[in-house]
Amino acid sequence: MQMFLDGRPRTRSEVVQLTGLARSTVGQRVEALQSIGLLEPIGEAASTGGRPSARFAFNPQARVVVGADIGATHGHVALTDLLGRPLCEIAEPITITDGPAPVLDWLATTTERLLTQSGRDRTDLVGIGIGLPGPVEHSTGRPMQPPIMPGWDRYDVPHHLATALHLDTGFPSDGHAGSPGSATGPVPVLVDNDVNIMALGEHAAAHPHVQHLLFVKVATGIGAGIISGGRLHRGAVGAAGDLGHVAAPGHAQVLCRCGNTGCLEAVAGGPAITASLHAHGITATSNEDIVALVRSGSIPTAHAVRQAGRTIGEVLATCVSLLNPSVIVIGGSLAGAGESLIAGVREVVYGRSLPLATGDLQIVPATTGRQAGVIGAATMVTQHVLTADRIDHAIATRGVIA
Ligand SMILES: [Zn+2]
Repeated sequence: MQMFLDGRPRTRSEVVQLTGLARSTVGQRVEALQSIGLLEPIGEAASTGGRPSARFAFNPQARVVVGADIGATHGHVALTDLLGRPLCEIAEPITITDGPAPVLDWLATTTERLLTQSGRDRTDLVGIGIGLPGPVEHSTGRPMQPPIMPGWDRYDVPHHLATALHLDTGFPSDGHAGSPGSATGPVPVLVDNDVNIMALGEHAAAHPHVQHLLFVKVATGIGAGIISGGRLHRGAVGAAGDLGHVAAPGHAQVLCRCGNTGCLEAVAGGPAITASLHAHGITATSNEDIVALVRSGSIPTAHAVRQAGRTIGEVLATCVSLLNPSVIVIGGSLAGAGESLIAGVREVVYGRSLPLATGDLQIVPATTGRQAGVIGAATMVTQHVLTADRIDHAIATRGVIA
Protein backbone atom coordinates (compact mmCIF):
# COMPACT_ATOMS: atom_id res chain seq x y z
CA MET A 1 0.00 0.00 0.00
CA GLN A 2 2.74 2.46 1.01
CA MET A 3 4.12 2.62 -2.53
CA PHE A 4 0.74 3.82 -3.82
CA LEU A 5 0.73 6.85 -1.52
CA ASP A 6 2.80 8.83 -4.04
CA GLY A 7 -0.35 8.84 -6.18
CA ARG A 8 1.22 6.96 -9.11
CA PRO A 9 -0.91 4.20 -10.66
CA ARG A 10 0.75 0.81 -10.96
CA THR A 11 -0.03 -2.60 -12.41
CA ARG A 12 0.27 -5.83 -10.42
CA SER A 13 3.41 -6.70 -12.40
CA GLU A 14 5.02 -3.38 -11.48
CA VAL A 15 4.29 -4.05 -7.81
CA VAL A 16 5.82 -7.53 -8.14
CA GLN A 17 8.94 -5.98 -9.69
CA LEU A 18 9.21 -3.27 -7.02
CA THR A 19 8.59 -5.47 -4.00
CA GLY A 20 9.98 -8.84 -5.04
CA LEU A 21 6.79 -10.42 -3.62
CA ALA A 22 5.14 -13.40 -5.29
CA ARG A 23 2.58 -12.56 -7.93
CA SER A 24 -0.16 -14.37 -6.02
CA THR A 25 0.62 -12.41 -2.83
CA VAL A 26 0.46 -9.11 -4.70
CA GLY A 27 -2.80 -10.15 -6.35
CA GLN A 28 -4.42 -10.94 -2.99
CA ARG A 29 -3.15 -7.73 -1.45
CA VAL A 30 -4.43 -5.55 -4.30
CA GLU A 31 -7.80 -7.25 -4.08
CA ALA A 32 -7.97 -6.74 -0.31
CA LEU A 33 -7.05 -3.06 -0.60
CA GLN A 34 -9.67 -2.67 -3.30
CA SER A 35 -12.27 -4.29 -1.03
CA ILE A 36 -11.81 -1.56 1.60
CA GLY A 37 -11.76 1.18 -1.04
CA LEU A 38 -8.16 2.34 -0.63
CA LEU A 39 -7.16 1.20 -4.11
CA GLU A 40 -9.24 1.62 -7.23
CA PRO A 41 -8.74 0.40 -10.80
CA ILE A 42 -8.04 3.27 -13.19
CA GLY A 43 -7.90 1.89 -16.71
CA GLU A 44 -5.32 -0.31 -18.32
CA ALA A 45 -1.62 0.03 -18.97
CA ALA A 46 -0.43 0.19 -22.58
CA SER A 47 0.65 -3.28 -23.50
CA THR A 48 3.17 -4.54 -25.98
CA GLY A 49 1.16 -7.52 -27.09
CA GLY A 50 -0.82 -9.91 -24.97
CA ARG A 51 -3.54 -9.00 -22.51
CA PRO A 52 -3.54 -5.35 -21.28
CA SER A 53 -3.02 -5.24 -17.51
CA ALA A 54 -5.20 -3.30 -15.12
CA ARG A 55 -3.67 -0.39 -13.25
CA PHE A 56 -4.54 0.55 -9.69
CA ALA A 57 -4.18 3.83 -7.80
CA PHE A 58 -4.63 5.07 -4.25
CA ASN A 59 -8.12 6.50 -3.76
CA PRO A 60 -7.72 9.46 -1.36
CA GLN A 61 -11.48 10.03 -1.34
CA ALA A 62 -12.10 6.64 0.27
CA ARG A 63 -12.27 8.16 3.76
CA VAL A 64 -12.15 11.59 5.39
CA VAL A 65 -10.11 13.18 8.17
CA VAL A 66 -10.80 16.16 10.43
CA GLY A 67 -7.91 18.61 10.88
CA ALA A 68 -8.39 21.31 13.52
CA ASP A 69 -6.20 24.33 14.17
CA ILE A 70 -7.14 25.83 17.52
CA GLY A 71 -5.50 29.18 18.30
CA ALA A 72 -5.85 31.62 21.18
CA THR A 73 -8.74 33.41 19.48
CA HIS A 74 -9.56 31.38 16.37
CA GLY A 75 -10.74 27.90 15.52
CA HIS A 76 -10.25 26.56 12.01
CA VAL A 77 -11.48 23.08 11.13
CA ALA A 78 -11.25 21.28 7.79
CA LEU A 79 -12.59 18.00 6.52
CA THR A 80 -9.86 16.58 4.27
CA ASP A 81 -9.25 13.56 2.07
CA LEU A 82 -6.61 10.95 2.90
CA LEU A 83 -3.90 13.16 1.37
CA GLY A 84 -4.77 15.97 3.80
CA ARG A 85 -6.37 18.11 1.08
CA PRO A 86 -9.24 20.21 2.48
CA LEU A 87 -12.70 19.36 1.10
CA CYS A 88 -14.59 21.91 3.19
CA GLU A 89 -13.67 24.21 6.07
CA ILE A 90 -15.16 26.27 8.89
CA ALA A 91 -13.27 29.08 10.65
CA GLU A 92 -14.83 30.93 13.60
CA PRO A 93 -13.64 33.06 16.51
CA ILE A 94 -13.21 31.11 19.76
CA THR A 95 -11.67 31.96 23.11
CA ILE A 96 -9.13 29.44 24.34
CA THR A 97 -9.33 30.92 27.87
CA ASP A 98 -12.98 29.74 28.10
CA GLY A 99 -11.40 26.38 28.99
CA PRO A 100 -11.39 22.97 27.34
CA ALA A 101 -15.07 21.95 27.59
CA PRO A 102 -16.67 24.80 25.56
CA VAL A 103 -13.85 24.84 23.00
CA LEU A 104 -13.88 21.06 22.45
CA ASP A 105 -17.69 20.99 22.34
CA TRP A 106 -17.46 23.64 19.60
CA LEU A 107 -14.98 21.40 17.75
CA ALA A 108 -17.31 18.40 18.06
CA THR A 109 -20.27 20.39 16.73
CA THR A 110 -18.15 21.81 13.91
CA THR A 111 -17.01 18.29 12.97
CA GLU A 112 -20.66 17.22 12.68
CA ARG A 113 -21.49 20.29 10.58
CA LEU A 114 -18.62 19.52 8.18
CA LEU A 115 -19.67 15.89 7.80
CA THR A 116 -23.23 16.99 7.05
CA GLN A 117 -22.10 19.73 4.62
CA SER A 118 -19.96 17.32 2.64
CA GLY A 119 -22.52 14.52 2.68
CA ARG A 120 -20.06 12.13 4.35
CA ASP A 121 -21.09 9.57 6.92
CA ARG A 122 -19.64 9.34 10.41
CA THR A 123 -18.24 5.93 9.45
CA ASP A 124 -16.12 7.60 6.74
CA LEU A 125 -14.15 9.46 9.41
CA VAL A 126 -10.77 7.80 10.13
CA GLY A 127 -9.40 10.23 12.67
CA ILE A 128 -9.27 13.72 14.15
CA GLY A 129 -6.06 15.76 14.37
CA ILE A 130 -5.87 18.83 16.59
CA GLY A 131 -3.25 21.55 16.97
CA LEU A 132 -3.31 23.55 20.21
CA PRO A 133 -1.44 26.79 21.02
CA GLY A 134 0.77 25.34 23.78
CA PRO A 135 2.95 22.35 24.72
CA VAL A 136 1.22 18.99 24.30
CA GLU A 137 2.23 15.50 25.39
CA HIS A 138 1.57 13.91 22.01
CA SER A 139 1.39 10.32 23.30
CA THR A 140 -1.63 11.13 25.52
CA GLY A 141 -3.04 14.19 23.76
CA ARG A 142 -2.84 16.24 26.95
CA PRO A 143 -1.64 19.88 27.07
CA MET A 144 1.28 20.31 29.50
CA GLN A 145 1.38 23.52 31.55
CA PRO A 146 0.27 25.63 28.58
CA PRO A 147 0.94 29.29 29.48
CA ILE A 148 -2.01 30.88 27.62
CA MET A 149 -4.58 28.10 28.22
CA PRO A 150 -5.96 28.28 31.77
CA GLY A 151 -7.85 25.11 32.74
CA TRP A 152 -6.26 22.98 30.03
CA ASP A 153 -3.27 21.59 31.95
CA ARG A 154 -3.23 17.77 31.53
CA TYR A 155 -6.82 17.82 30.22
CA ASP A 156 -7.74 14.60 28.38
CA VAL A 157 -8.56 16.14 24.99
CA PRO A 158 -9.04 12.83 23.07
CA HIS A 159 -11.43 11.47 25.71
CA HIS A 160 -13.56 14.62 25.67
CA LEU A 161 -13.94 14.54 21.88
CA ALA A 162 -14.57 10.81 21.75
CA THR A 163 -17.38 11.25 24.28
CA ALA A 164 -18.86 14.35 22.64
CA LEU A 165 -18.90 12.72 19.20
CA HIS A 166 -19.89 9.24 20.46
CA LEU A 167 -16.96 7.87 18.52
CA ASP A 168 -17.18 4.13 18.25
CA THR A 169 -14.26 2.77 20.23
CA GLY A 170 -14.88 -0.61 18.60
CA PHE A 171 -12.83 -2.69 20.99
CA PRO A 172 -14.19 -3.15 24.52
CA SER A 173 -10.74 -4.25 25.67
CA ASP A 174 -8.93 -1.37 24.01
CA GLY A 175 -8.97 0.87 27.05
CA HIS A 176 -10.10 4.46 27.03
CA ALA A 177 -9.05 7.44 24.95
CA GLY A 178 -5.53 8.51 25.74
CA SER A 179 -4.03 5.03 25.79
CA PRO A 180 -0.58 4.77 24.15
CA GLY A 181 -0.74 6.29 20.69
CA SER A 182 -3.75 8.24 21.96
CA ALA A 183 -5.96 6.01 19.89
CA THR A 184 -9.62 6.10 20.79
CA GLY A 185 -10.39 2.90 18.99
CA PRO A 186 -11.06 3.02 15.29
CA VAL A 187 -11.19 6.83 15.21
CA PRO A 188 -7.98 8.13 16.82
CA VAL A 189 -7.88 11.67 18.18
CA LEU A 190 -4.30 12.97 17.92
CA VAL A 191 -3.11 16.23 19.45
CA ASP A 192 0.06 18.27 19.07
CA ASN A 193 1.18 21.87 19.42
CA ASP A 194 0.32 24.34 16.66
CA VAL A 195 3.87 24.79 15.39
CA ASN A 196 4.45 21.05 14.94
CA ILE A 197 1.25 20.67 12.92
CA MET A 198 2.14 23.72 10.79
CA ALA A 199 5.52 22.07 10.09
CA LEU A 200 3.77 18.85 9.07
CA GLY A 201 1.32 20.77 6.85
CA GLU A 202 3.96 22.81 5.09
CA HIS A 203 6.17 19.74 4.66
CA ALA A 204 3.35 17.64 3.19
CA ALA A 205 1.96 20.38 0.94
CA ALA A 206 5.11 22.11 -0.33
CA HIS A 207 8.23 20.03 0.43
CA PRO A 208 7.17 16.36 0.56
CA HIS A 209 10.55 15.06 -0.62
CA VAL A 210 12.67 17.16 1.73
CA GLN A 211 14.10 15.05 4.56
CA HIS A 212 15.40 17.84 6.82
CA LEU A 213 13.21 20.90 7.23
CA LEU A 214 12.86 23.54 9.90
CA PHE A 215 9.53 25.38 10.07
CA VAL A 216 9.64 28.63 12.02
CA LYS A 217 6.44 30.31 13.15
CA VAL A 218 6.86 34.05 13.64
CA ALA A 219 3.84 35.66 15.26
CA THR A 220 3.12 36.91 18.78
CA GLY A 221 5.23 33.97 19.89
CA ILE A 222 8.08 32.31 18.02
CA GLY A 223 8.58 28.56 17.72
CA ALA A 224 9.90 25.91 15.39
CA GLY A 225 8.80 22.50 14.14
CA ILE A 226 11.62 20.15 13.18
CA ILE A 227 11.31 17.58 10.39
CA SER A 228 14.36 15.32 10.64
CA GLY A 229 14.83 12.30 8.39
CA GLY A 230 11.35 12.97 6.97
CA ARG A 231 9.67 12.72 10.38
CA LEU A 232 8.58 15.22 12.98
CA HIS A 233 11.11 15.39 15.82
CA ARG A 234 9.24 16.07 19.08
CA GLY A 235 11.97 15.54 21.64
CA ALA A 236 11.77 13.83 25.03
CA VAL A 237 8.67 15.63 26.34
CA GLY A 238 7.42 17.33 23.17
CA ALA A 239 9.29 20.56 23.79
CA ALA A 240 11.69 20.35 20.83
CA GLY A 241 11.72 23.50 18.73
CA ASP A 242 10.53 25.83 21.49
CA LEU A 243 12.77 28.66 20.30
CA GLY A 244 10.71 31.53 21.73
CA HIS A 245 12.54 31.49 25.03
CA VAL A 246 16.06 30.92 23.74
CA ALA A 247 18.29 33.87 24.60
CA ALA A 248 18.69 36.36 21.75
CA PRO A 249 22.28 37.65 21.87
CA GLY A 250 22.66 41.26 23.09
CA HIS A 251 19.22 41.81 24.64
CA ALA A 252 19.81 40.81 28.26
CA GLN A 253 17.73 43.75 29.59
CA VAL A 254 14.47 42.86 27.80
CA LEU A 255 11.86 41.26 30.08
CA CYS A 256 9.87 38.28 28.80
CA ARG A 257 6.40 37.10 29.86
CA CYS A 258 8.02 33.82 30.93
CA GLY A 259 9.86 35.67 33.72
CA ASN A 260 13.25 35.42 32.08
CA THR A 261 15.10 38.16 30.19
CA GLY A 262 16.41 38.48 26.64
CA CYS A 263 14.13 35.76 25.17
CA LEU A 264 13.85 35.63 21.37
CA GLU A 265 10.10 36.25 21.30
CA ALA A 266 10.36 39.18 23.75
CA VAL A 267 12.85 40.79 21.34
CA ALA A 268 11.50 39.79 17.90
CA GLY A 269 7.85 38.71 18.34
CA GLY A 270 4.86 40.79 17.23
CA PRO A 271 4.45 42.77 20.48
CA ALA A 272 8.15 43.71 20.46
CA ILE A 273 7.78 45.07 16.92
CA THR A 274 4.65 47.07 17.77
CA ALA A 275 6.47 48.52 20.83
CA SER A 276 9.43 49.61 18.71
CA LEU A 277 7.05 51.21 16.18
CA HIS A 278 5.32 53.05 19.01
CA ALA A 279 8.68 54.69 19.78
CA HIS A 280 8.59 56.03 16.19
CA GLY A 281 5.07 57.37 16.70
CA ILE A 282 3.54 54.61 14.55
CA THR A 283 0.44 52.90 15.92
CA ALA A 284 0.10 49.16 15.34
CA THR A 285 -1.86 46.97 17.72
CA SER A 286 -1.69 43.57 16.02
CA ASN A 287 0.47 41.42 13.76
CA GLU A 288 -2.02 42.14 10.96
CA ASP A 289 -1.38 45.88 11.46
CA ILE A 290 2.37 45.29 11.11
CA VAL A 291 1.90 43.31 7.89
CA ALA A 292 -0.47 45.97 6.49
CA LEU A 293 2.04 48.75 7.31
CA VAL A 294 4.88 46.91 5.54
CA ARG A 295 2.68 46.30 2.52
CA SER A 296 1.64 49.96 2.41
CA GLY A 297 5.30 50.97 2.20
CA SER A 298 6.04 52.12 5.77
CA ILE A 299 9.85 52.23 5.82
CA PRO A 300 10.26 52.31 9.64
CA THR A 301 8.00 49.23 9.87
CA ALA A 302 9.95 47.38 7.17
CA HIS A 303 13.15 48.22 9.08
CA ALA A 304 11.71 46.98 12.38
CA VAL A 305 10.54 43.73 10.77
CA ARG A 306 13.90 43.21 9.06
CA GLN A 307 15.67 43.77 12.38
CA ALA A 308 13.37 41.16 13.97
CA GLY A 309 14.35 38.83 11.10
CA ARG A 310 18.04 39.38 11.90
CA THR A 311 17.50 38.59 15.59
CA ILE A 312 15.61 35.40 14.64
CA GLY A 313 18.45 34.63 12.22
CA GLU A 314 20.98 34.74 15.07
CA VAL A 315 19.15 31.91 16.82
CA LEU A 316 18.50 30.04 13.56
CA ALA A 317 22.21 30.12 12.67
CA THR A 318 22.76 27.95 15.75
CA CYS A 319 19.90 25.67 14.68
CA VAL A 320 21.45 25.31 11.22
CA SER A 321 24.74 24.18 12.77
CA LEU A 322 22.91 21.71 15.00
CA LEU A 323 20.35 20.28 12.56
CA ASN A 324 21.71 20.94 9.06
CA PRO A 325 18.28 21.44 7.41
CA SER A 326 18.05 21.84 3.64
CA VAL A 327 14.97 24.07 3.88
CA ILE A 328 13.93 26.65 6.47
CA VAL A 329 10.32 27.74 6.04
CA ILE A 330 9.22 31.00 7.64
CA GLY A 331 5.51 30.99 8.50
CA GLY A 332 3.12 32.48 11.06
CA SER A 333 1.13 35.70 10.85
CA LEU A 334 4.21 37.95 10.52
CA ALA A 335 5.48 35.96 7.52
CA GLY A 336 2.91 37.99 5.57
CA ALA A 337 5.38 40.88 5.89
CA GLY A 338 7.17 39.07 3.08
CA GLU A 339 10.69 39.90 2.04
CA SER A 340 11.48 42.24 4.95
CA LEU A 341 11.39 39.43 7.49
CA ILE A 342 13.02 36.77 5.31
CA ALA A 343 15.77 39.14 4.14
CA GLY A 344 16.77 39.75 7.77
CA VAL A 345 16.81 36.00 8.50
CA ARG A 346 18.86 35.21 5.37
CA GLU A 347 21.34 38.01 6.03
CA VAL A 348 22.36 36.55 9.38
CA VAL A 349 21.97 32.81 8.71
CA TYR A 350 24.04 32.89 5.51
CA GLY A 351 26.53 35.27 7.13
CA ARG A 352 26.98 33.28 10.32
CA SER A 353 26.79 29.63 9.30
CA LEU A 354 29.57 27.59 7.75
CA PRO A 355 29.44 27.32 3.94
CA LEU A 356 28.99 23.54 4.01
CA ALA A 357 25.73 23.88 5.98
CA THR A 358 24.34 26.75 3.88
CA GLY A 359 25.56 25.68 0.42
CA ASP A 360 22.19 24.15 -0.51
CA LEU A 361 20.10 25.74 2.24
CA GLN A 362 16.92 27.46 1.09
CA ILE A 363 15.14 29.96 3.34
CA VAL A 364 11.62 30.40 1.96
CA PRO A 365 8.21 31.75 2.99
CA ALA A 366 5.43 29.30 3.89
CA THR A 367 3.03 28.57 1.05
CA THR A 368 0.09 27.09 2.94
CA GLY A 369 -0.77 30.31 4.81
CA ARG A 370 -3.74 29.98 7.11
CA GLN A 371 -4.32 26.40 5.93
CA ALA A 372 -0.98 25.10 7.27
CA GLY A 373 -2.51 24.12 10.62
CA VAL A 374 -5.53 22.20 9.31
CA ILE A 375 -3.53 20.45 6.58
CA GLY A 376 -0.87 19.50 9.12
CA ALA A 377 -3.39 18.25 11.70
CA ALA A 378 -4.99 16.06 9.03
CA THR A 379 -1.56 14.88 7.84
CA MET A 380 -0.71 13.84 11.40
CA VAL A 381 -3.77 11.54 11.25
CA THR A 382 -3.13 10.12 7.78
CA GLN A 383 0.48 9.31 8.67
CA HIS A 384 -0.86 7.51 11.74
CA VAL A 385 -3.66 5.52 10.10
CA LEU A 386 -2.08 4.65 6.75
CA THR A 387 0.60 2.41 8.24
CA ALA A 388 0.90 -1.22 7.15
CA ASP A 389 -0.32 -2.58 10.53
CA ARG A 390 -3.43 -0.44 10.57
CA ILE A 391 -4.28 -1.22 6.98
CA ASP A 392 -3.91 -4.95 7.76
CA HIS A 393 -6.36 -4.44 10.61
CA ALA A 394 -8.75 -2.63 8.27
CA ILE A 395 -8.65 -5.51 5.83
CA ALA A 396 -9.21 -8.03 8.66
CA THR A 397 -12.21 -6.10 9.99
CA ARG A 398 -13.52 -5.25 6.53
CA GLY A 399 -12.94 -1.57 6.31
CA VAL A 400 -12.38 -0.08 9.75
CA ILE A 401 -9.06 1.73 9.64
CA ALA A 402 -7.99 2.00 13.27
ZN1 LIG B 1 10.79 34.00 27.70
